[in-house]
Amino acid sequence: MGELRRFLATESSFSEAHPTIQAAKMSYVMSDYGSEVREGFWTPDDDPKIRCLNPLCQRGGFDIGREVQMMICLGLTSKDLNLRCDGDEGSPKGRRTGQPCEYMLKGTLSIIYKAEG
Ligand SMILES: [Zn+2]
Repeated sequence: MGELRRFLATESSFSEAHPTIQAAKMSYVMSDYGSEVREGFWTPDDDPKIRCLNPLCQRGGFDIGREVQMMICLGLTSKDLNLRCDGDEGSPKGRRTGQPCEYMLKGTLSIIYKAEG
């Protein structure tokens, strides 16, 4: 299991999964009810899911890997994202579901495709 995890974390796994992509990046702002929590920068070296910084949030995060996948399907090079965290403020094991998390992630995701041929 440890081996597998290490393999999945390598840089090459992204390019293997997305052979038509040369690079991808996104600068983002995470906010809570409109007030900025953090500015950041995502690249394929990072986890495909950006962790939500709401300390109460469970099961949350922002799935950038999925957005990249969708952009590839549509052949887009740039897309404005305005994602809402899909987590909630319930108990960690899910016995109680709390308020939905209100954290948002905003930014522009860019993809550079490899030249054909
Ligand atoms: Zn959250």
